[in-house]
Amino acid sequence: MDRIASIENALVGGGRISRDDAQWLWHNATDGQLQQLAGIVRARYHKPFDATYLLMRIINYTNVCVAKCDYCSFYRLPGQPDTYTRSKEWVFSKIDELIEVGGDLFGFNGGFNPELKIDYYTDLFGAVREKYGNSIEFYAMTVVELIYVAKISRLSLEEALSRLYDAGVRWVTGGGAEVLSDTFRKRHSPLKYTVEEYFAAQRAILAAGMKTTGTMVIGFDETLDERLDHLESVREFQDVTMGGLFSFLCWTYKPWNNELGGSEIDAQEYLRHLALCRIYLDNVTHVRASVLTQNANALRGLSYGANDFDIPWEDEVTQLAGAVIEQDVERVLGYARAEGFEPRRRSAARPTLVALS
Ligand code: SF4
Repeated sequence: MDRIASIENALVGGGRISRDDAQWLWHNATDGQLQQLAGIVRARYHKPFDATYLLMRIINYTNVCVAKCDYCSFYRLPGQPDTYTRSKEWVFSKIDELIEVGGDLFGFNGGFNPELKIDYYTDLFGAVREKYGNSIEFYAMTVVELIYVAKISRLSLEEALSRLYDAGVRWVTGGGAEVLSDTFRKRHSPLKYTVEEYFAAQRAILAAGMKTTGTMVIGFDETLDERLDHLESVREFQDVTMGGLFSFLCWTYKPWNNELGGSEIDAQEYLRHLALCRIYLDNVTHVRASVLTQNANALRGLSYGANDFDIPWEDEVTQLAGAVIEQDVERVLGYARAEGFEPRRRSAARPTLVALS
């Protein structure tokens, strides 16, 4: 039996692939073979042409950051002239705008701002929860922002999370992961915490009774081994936490206006990687495609193992790095339909995927 057939047999039988298999598939499998294998794992959780989406916006509440990741186009150092920290009223206006067009998910994303201790966050998130109740949902911060805020507030992760929970926070995202390989992190973001610190924070989030997600960004200069380090560590985390990560989203690096520069990976590389994620992460229920960085190509991802996607309204971080956001919802849905899918909208304000129509 050739290697593809033996991998396919293992997957059909409910088994999983090894790291060595993943490496082999990356170098040797055709796009069609990757699609087929991803489809086998996808079918463990979803009907073949089922896909869901939600309408969301990122709220960038501050652009001050001292982490200085070399791939970042967004941050400003304290004291630079074009820094900002947004008021509650500004945040409310951003939420109201998205509600107007039918969205209900907000992802807060800022930086490592030394001026903003835990009280800033509990005050802001408490006000959002008080004003909007459970009619919307929000991802309060990324895992790495959480670690930073706890440290500068001189709190343990548990204490910081307990205060955030009391303020109404129910979700943190796996953002700040980029590539979960310490060699990669030392090269590009040495102040953005190690892989071990990242997963310790993810465990603390789950222990605090909150939900979290898995994320990944590719297309910098990471090696295949570093990508596989990432997938391996996420799969192990899922095993140990029995599915602690609600979903896994992979997006791509945008190389404009930052120190690292470079060029973008092509559309096919993203799709092949997405398929590999779906195949490897057999213990993740929802694999999501990135409309934010891939536009129409993200919807081709539904045929490469993804089952869910965001339609994002705004995200300054990726827009400054070169992302062009498609705000025409019908056009984005049309891309999915062209792939043979009829996506159902889901509500972020409910804890599980729920189609609204
Ligand atoms: S990627 Fe995030 S942590 Fe890194 S410099 Fe930019 S804002 Fe700061």
